[in-house]
Amino acid sequence: MSAITPFRIMKSLLLTFLAIITAQLFLAQSVTIADDHKSAPKIKVLLVDGQNNHDWKRCSPVMIDTLDATGRFQIDRATVSKADVANFNPDFEKYDVVLSNYNGAAWKKETEESFVKYIKNGGNLVVVHAADNSFPKWKAFNEMIGLGGWGGRNEKDGPYVYWKDGKVVRDNSKGRGGSHGRPWEYKVVVRDKDHPITRGLPTEFLQVKEELYDRLRGPAQNMKILATAFAKGGSGRDEPVLMTISYGKGRVFHTVMGHSHTSMGGVAFQETLIRGTEWAATGKVTFPPVTASVLPVDKAAYRDPKDIKF
Ligand code: ZN
Repeated sequence: MSAITPFRIMKSLLLTFLAIITAQLFLAQSVTIADDHKSAPKIKVLLVDGQNNHDWKRCSPVMIDTLDATGRFQIDRATVSKADVANFNPDFEKYDVVLSNYNGAAWKKETEESFVKYIKNGGNLVVVHAADNSFPKWKAFNEMIGLGGWGGRNEKDGPYVYWKDGKVVRDNSKGRGGSHGRPWEYKVVVRDKDHPITRGLPTEFLQVKEELYDRLRGPAQNMKILATAFAKGGSGRDEPVLMTISYGKGRVFHTVMGHSHTSMGGVAFQETLIRGTEWAATGKVTFPPVTASVLPVDKAAYRDPKDIKF
């Protein structure tokens, strides 16, 4: 037996001990993160739907199931038919964030005013796809969403805004606001990698087959473009897909994804909705990063919201 052996045994014991401690620390940390996530007070969401030129009846449940699956949100739903608009005046203040899947009749003045007050004072908004077609004549709403389409929108409503040569272009040329090419699987490119919503996403990923909005117009003030997609067969420009807007003390997350209940089955839609809604409500994203194997760029990934696990 050489004199070195006891030292070797000691060293190996020490290394094993260190490995165990490290593993335990790591586990403890994972458990803490998971516990924080589950024990944190739930984010109160008011989902507004009931009128839309899209199939809101099948879309809203996919959004509810997606947010529900995370355990982070508590969702109330206000379904506002045309006949309900006259009576629609919810207590927005009860909610951390309003999620709009609404593209319909104008709300009454009183409701508009209470909504503007709510957002200005730090209420928050998530706008999904055709919800940005809504309320073309409501100035404050268009300031909140940054960009919108259809409903007679044109150069009077603000510039076209798109991405070119690494910069945002504001284009005041005349023309209608809002169009799209044929549905296809489009590649989303993250342009702001430092935002809490996009920080944990792959830098490029594929959204499942759906139409991609282009040529949106609006005031686009206090707006950040987080991600774009090239509008092949449409404007031929890199169009905003994910945006944030600040309005008073309020945070707005605007996604043009989510044309149908099928395309809402896209992992790209789901992960950005989850992160965007949490960010709008709290200013932070506590969800872990999304890996390229979950959200790939070479394959349009679908997922049943039931399979979302955190
Ligand atoms: Zn659509």
